[in-house]
Amino acid sequence: MSDYDTVSADVEHEEEIPEDHPRYQDLLTRHRIETGVEKGITHLQGMHAEGRGSAFDYLLGEETIPSADDAERAAAAQLLLADHPVLSINGNVAALVPGEMADLAAVTGADLEVNLFNRTEERITAIADHLREHGAEEVKGLEADARIPNLDHQRAKVDADGIYDADVVLVPLEDGDRAAALEEMGKTEIVIDLNPLSRSPQVADIPIVDNIIRAVPNVTAHARDLADASEDDLRAIVDAFDRERALDRAEKRIRSGVE
Ligand code: ATP
Repeated sequence: MSDYDTVSADVEHEEEIPEDHPRYQDLLTRHRIETGVEKGITHLQGMHAEGRGSAFDYLLGEETIPSADDAERAAAAQLLLADHPVLSINGNVAALVPGEMADLAAVTGADLEVNLFNRTEERITAIADHLREHGAEEVKGLEADARIPNLDHQRAKVDADGIYDADVVLVPLEDGDRAAALEEMGKTEIVIDLNPLSRSPQVADIPIVDNIIRAVPNVTAHARDLADASEDDLRAIVDAFDRERALDRAEKRIRSGVE
């Protein structure tokens, strides 16, 4: 039995997970989701979504593959070009990267909006509080005074001055129906999802096949790097990005181990 076999999945604090563990990021992600469920910000179904993602990350070797890094740079450029960018937050996103989403919003001038599959006012308020504790200034999603067309009532709710009005939306770990409905509204959609075959990345303008815990800080780093770039340069980065190629390369890497 190796030392690693003694690492329990239910550690009290994430600092107890050894950073040199071969599946460190999986243990960290799982721990954060468990804590999110305990705190009432993540739905129990979020565990199941996490399990699906974890299998793909295992096959990606828990690293940002080059085509994902390209997508993350294009996403940063697209957010900087936007008139009204909005970052959508669900229970898993809030549990995994609250401070990182607040940083990305600050660097790109985006709004943060809580948008839940299993919507309750209690959970929305808990998530908004959690985001503010991690540095978010303003959090939208509480008004719910507009509807995304072609979705059932609960899942369609958004803020009129948030996602409804946005030209560019980042929707990480999104369910396929809502991603498709946002696409039909004409939004430019950036999706973060470890499964390149899932419907959300399939409909995205910029699909990022990477673990959200690596992807969000990397989009922010690219945005900082591009802060002084001209509009033409940002547009060129977005135009050079090839969504089909990014999806193909991620799938190839997952299936064969090489990109
Ligand atoms: P569809 O988009 O076809 O509805 P699905 O039903 O599998 O797909 P959901 O359960 O709604 O999708 O969302 C979970 C998705 O999030 C999965 O595709 C999973 O791979 C992805 N996912 C889970 N954890 C992470 C993570 N930490 N980083 C990135 N993606 C993740």
